[in-house]
Amino acid sequence: MWQAELEIDLGAIRDNADLLKAATSAEIMAVVKADGYGHGAVESARAALAGGATWLGVCTLGEAAHLREAGIEAPMLAWLWLPGQPLGAAIGQRVDLGVSSHSQLTAVIEVARATGLTAGTHLKIDTGLSRGGAAATDWAALLETAAAAQAEGLIDVVGVWSHLANADSPGHDSVDRQLKLFHEALEAAKRAGLAPRVRHLANSAALLTRPDTHFDLVRVGIALYGLPPVDTTLRLKPAMTARARVIHTKRLAEGEGVSYGYTYITPRATTVALVPIGYADGVPRHASNIGPVQINGARYRIAGRVCMDQFVVDVGDAEVSDGDEVVLFGSGERGEPTAEDWARAIDTISYEIVTRMGSGRVQRTHIGIA
Ligand SMILES: *Cc1c(COP(=O)(O)O)cnc(C)c1O
Repeated sequence: MWQAELEIDLGAIRDNADLLKAATSAEIMAVVKADGYGHGAVESARAALAGGATWLGVCTLGEAAHLREAGIEAPMLAWLWLPGQPLGAAIGQRVDLGVSSHSQLTAVIEVARATGLTAGTHLKIDTGLSRGGAAATDWAALLETAAAAQAEGLIDVVGVWSHLANADSPGHDSVDRQLKLFHEALEAAKRAGLAPRVRHLANSAALLTRPDTHFDLVRVGIALYGLPPVDTTLRLKPAMTARARVIHTKRLAEGEGVSYGYTYITPRATTVALVPIGYADGVPRHASNIGPVQINGARYRIAGRVCMDQFVVDVGDAEVSDGDEVVLFGSGERGEPTAEDWARAIDTISYEIVTRMGSGRVQRTHIGIA
């Protein structure tokens, strides 16, 4: 019997992919980096593909190899890698590579020349996030080198792409600015003789708010897991439930300090329940005294500090026993908190809540698709 578990509803991921696909004329790239935002990369990828996604997106070459080794054949893009890493393996496994610079393009071309393989590449322009992507001033030269390498059969420029900085703030003027620069970058690619099959700019927030950013492909992460970063009428369902079982209860007198540092003092005689999940499992220590939980249908908050392996809940005079279920967050359908509630409580984003939970030691169970 589990004492703490993550339950991942793959049916929800599949249905979310289906809803998102219906919301755009573009193809869907399911972003399954960071172990599928903590939901399991392989399982999430399969569920998203079952729901109609046609591409997969990851950061690292290791993440891409993991999916290929599991037998997943869908078109795939990896965008965060270092020249000198084993590109031949990735190219051989038909993993397309995001290319932001001349040094990256040169590395891809050299490996293609040495192996006789044609490398699928997606050239990235920085339109204003100031993170990855070629500077606008380097774009023309990057296109020229890419066009020459494509003519030699060394690379195939499959995509041109960029990433938005403020899509989760609908109406932010940078979205229009980035979109305009992206159009200009596409024009330049055309002038260089390139005809990328997939032009892509939008993330989840842009998929939900800005159809003019969809182009041929949208890269969808968080919405796929049921946690839209902006208001939406789509009935997306959170796929991750995090829960644990009460492992110990006791009565405390009024005025007792609870957990390290005594940041919580019992306001009256009360019952406390010990929950065996802590920051080593991904429960943020910043959730001390504020993280919401549900026990036997009632809402409580964490009392005192979150410890490495456990935290305490003050349940007042409620009947709570060893083995009772403590839901940290779930879909919200049974009145339990959601990952979004946790994110608001500790002033972060739901991405961080689910990703941290999924990278801890908690047993993860997948349900919903055979
Ligand atoms: C993570 C990521 C995405 C997905 O973003 P969401 O907000 O989760 O939809 C898309 N594109 C890039 C480049 C990313 O790094």
